[in-house]
Amino acid sequence: MTKLIFLGSGSAFTVGTDNFQSNILIVNEQNQKLLVDCGTDIRFSLHQAGFSHLDITDIYISHLHADHVGGLEYIALSTFFDPRCQRPRLYTSKDIASDLWDRTLSGGLRFISGEIAELESFFAMEKLKYEGSFFWQGIEFQLVTVTHVDSGYYLMPSYGLFFEVEGVKIFLTTDTQLVLHQNRRFYEEADLIFHDCETSLYPSPVHASYKQLTKLPNSLKNKMWLYGYQPTVLPDAEKDGFLGFVKRGQIFEFSALESVVSYQPSVVSY
Ligand SMILES: [Zn+2]
Repeated sequence: MTKLIFLGSGSAFTVGTDNFQSNILIVNEQNQKLLVDCGTDIRFSLHQAGFSHLDITDIYISHLHADHVGGLEYIALSTFFDPRCQRPRLYTSKDIASDLWDRTLSGGLRFISGEIAELESFFAMEKLKYEGSFFWQGIEFQLVTVTHVDSGYYLMPSYGLFFEVEGVKIFLTTDTQLVLHQNRRFYEEADLIFHDCETSLYPSPVHASYKQLTKLPNSLKNKMWLYGYQPTVLPDAEKDGFLGFVKRGQIFEFSALESVVSYQPSVVSY
């Protein structure tokens, strides 16, 4: 059985103790783990879910906002100085990998006692080609270019994931605007979509808003879980045709042996 554990399902600026940033741990049958994004909340969200830096062996990074990379300094230093740990493997698009060090991590990580460090000092880098894919424990993860922040000059690089677990095709958008025509193929091919969803009263232009998503056809909404939302009173997503809002700590289970879809408050089996 492979599990998707939402360490958090909130937005970047989620406050309070009810939720954390949307970082996800994928855990397979052999208890191997892939962390999808590593935000500033990770020190808290990881431990509240019963894990620690010892569990972080493989990381995927979708883009460079702090709710997706702000916890990497913590993971880098805690694994580097812990003799029980090996360097975590870090998968990310090649364009993100260079900026990850130069513009995000080097300020805090470049100097260690007696050494000038580099990104490879802390992580075994897997720099992926444009819209390429990577394999983790037999699962192929395809990078999907998404439109997140458009500076007017060019798009901030940001890549969602498309992958298949136990016969279930999953599209994990990570942070994105709703640009259906850009990734129509993935929306249609997926059995299950985890979609970025902003619920703020004052929506930003860089995330899909709940209002926009409600206008999608039912064929898409009825396979869509929503995450990345604000700590607001949430609308009735099920009534509007969605599967629901993902809750912090919610676990989605995928098993080749179980074809029945069952729902419990915190565990969803496929
Ligand atoms: Zn973002």
